Amino acid sequence: MYRYIFGPVLSSRLGRSLGVDLLVERICSFDCLYCESGPTVFKTQTRAEYADPELVLEELELWLGRHPEQELDHITLGGEGEPCLNSGLGRIITEIKKIAPQTPVAVLTNSSLLTSAQVRSELMNPDVVLPSLDTLIPEEFIRLNRPLPGIDIQEIANGLALFCREFSGRVFLEILLVRGINDSFENLEKTAEFLKKFKYDRLDITCMSRPGAHIHPAIPGDQTLNRWKGVLQQGLSLDKSAQCRELPVEKVDKLAILASVQRRPQTLEQLCLALGLDRKEAAAALNNLKQERLIRVIRDREQNFYTSKGN
Ligand code: SF4
Repeated sequence: MYRYIFGPVLSSRLGRSLGVDLLVERICSFDCLYCESGPTVFKTQTRAEYADPELVLEELELWLGRHPEQELDHITLGGEGEPCLNSGLGRIITEIKKIAPQTPVAVLTNSSLLTSAQVRSELMNPDVVLPSLDTLIPEEFIRLNRPLPGIDIQEIANGLALFCREFSGRVFLEILLVRGINDSFENLEKTAEFLKKFKYDRLDITCMSRPGAHIHPAIPGDQTLNRWKGVLQQGLSLDKSAQCRELPVEKVDKLAILASVQRRPQTLEQLCLALGLDRKEAAAALNNLKQERLIRVIRDREQNFYTSKGN
């Protein structure tokens, strides 16, 4: 079983994306209500080699050697926590671009470390950076993102604006709206004002699409969503990533399924599409994993999501 590489997973923003986990454990500066990786176990803002860069790169080379025909839209640094917490981030990005020169490298971040000039400089090399900023209202930030005490949302916003001005790659911003928490008029007004200060390539206003660490999806109503989209997405490209191509059917690998659902709950259909699996065989493998008590099913909005969390 791979320790650092998972997926590919199907991402609505990045297409078929091979995940590289730079934390492996639930280590993050936040403990978001909606986190799909489960509750944060170690909340920190201190950078360290939480995953050894050499081992991460070795494993990626191994994976790419075994999947020569696999078509990827992105290799994405993310996983179980905030990837910028790994102090080997800059080196890992540089090396991935040598190992897989054809595949764009993307980095997901909660933006909290963009306050650091060192982190911003390490993030100059990926093709795409996907920072999130759910709210500019301190009370909403504390309630929704549950940051390490002392982290200030205005400082994060300043770091994000600086980064966007310095970075020459593509920036896909994300705002995840949770009903009754950050979908307020006040947040919309402040965010609209703030976003005028710098350039970015895309703004995704998203909602929870699977069970979160601390809450089930709490999706704002259509009127609220339309208001946010109307104000913030005016004149922006809303192109989603390339549709996923059909893959040659892969042999079902139970451990690859396990590694994937460890990072995010997924339905049978999502797993089949992302990993190129036969539906019947994948269903049998999931059943097997369930009987071995390695995964469980969460029922959410009439869909079964498979996860390894909470067993
Ligand atoms: S959603 Fe992202 S920022 Fe929030 S707790 Fe999970 S990994 Fe951390």
